[in-house]
Amino acid sequence: MTNITQPLICVACSHTEHIFLLEVRPKYQMLRCKNCGLIFVLPQWTIPTAANVFTHYDGWPEGISGGASNRTTSLKSIAQIINHRNPEGGRILDIGCADGAFFQRMHELSSKWEMFGAEPDPKWQNHNYPHSTVKSAILQACQFPDNYFDVVTILDAFCYVPEPDKELLEIQRILKPNGYLLLDVPGQSYLKLRGLIGNLAKLQNTQTFTAYPFYYSDKAIHLLARRVNMAVVESLPHSGTIQRSKLLHFLTLSYLWFVTRASNLSNQSVSLFPKIIYIIQNQNN
Ligand SMILES: [Zn+2]
Repeated sequence: MTNITQPLICVACSHTEHIFLLEVRPKYQMLRCKNCGLIFVLPQWTIPTAANVFTHYDGWPEGISGGASNRTTSLKSIAQIINHRNPEGGRILDIGCADGAFFQRMHELSSKWEMFGAEPDPKWQNHNYPHSTVKSAILQACQFPDNYFDVVTILDAFCYVPEPDKELLEIQRILKPNGYLLLDVPGQSYLKLRGLIGNLAKLQNTQTFTAYPFYYSDKAIHLLARRVNMAVVESLPHSGTIQRSKLLHFLTLSYLWFVTRASNLSNQSVSLFPKIIYIIQNQNN
């Protein structure tokens, strides 16, 4: 491993010491922050970089642009969590709403929500969203009023959000006091293990830490929230999406059975799960 000496600042914790992990594609390297464990791409992922990739892909996998499949079960369980916490409904914003599948799941459970979306990917510009108002722009350009939303969600998308410190600051501004952000991220330890097994079984698409510009550790999420006067109030393990490969699906189910029983779900062990859902509350009163 090589130490990178450039004065790069970690967006989650502001530390400047990082470890080189791997080269992911020509011109791109993945680094890990020595303090918080955030894994991030270099050159750092800025708003112009992301906009360029969403338009041209620029060597990133095409799946980077909202290509996830089989999300119905996962989105339904997230809609249930939100409705359980807010049975009275309210105003909700989904950032990176893609085809609007989440609005559909919410609509099926309750008619008490006024739903909004922000989708910067130009691919969805002319998409019809029957149950919501969607702006085809990055969050900062939407200019929502202060204290406007009860809930903000970023689903299967937070790992692509450029400048996440600024994004969270904007979310904190538009959230009502005690409103919350719900986001999900893949577990770092799970991905490492999955990469190892995939390698041994000679499966494709299981190489670790190559697809997203950010891979969050539990500590990175906590520190990022604290920077903008928000706090993680709950972290929930999640089984993630169904794997296409039958072998990988079987291994994932066996693994889940094992970790669910072996773990007491401390903050240190949540990253063993394929996905972790964070509920991050606005601490302003
Ligand atoms: Zn850090």
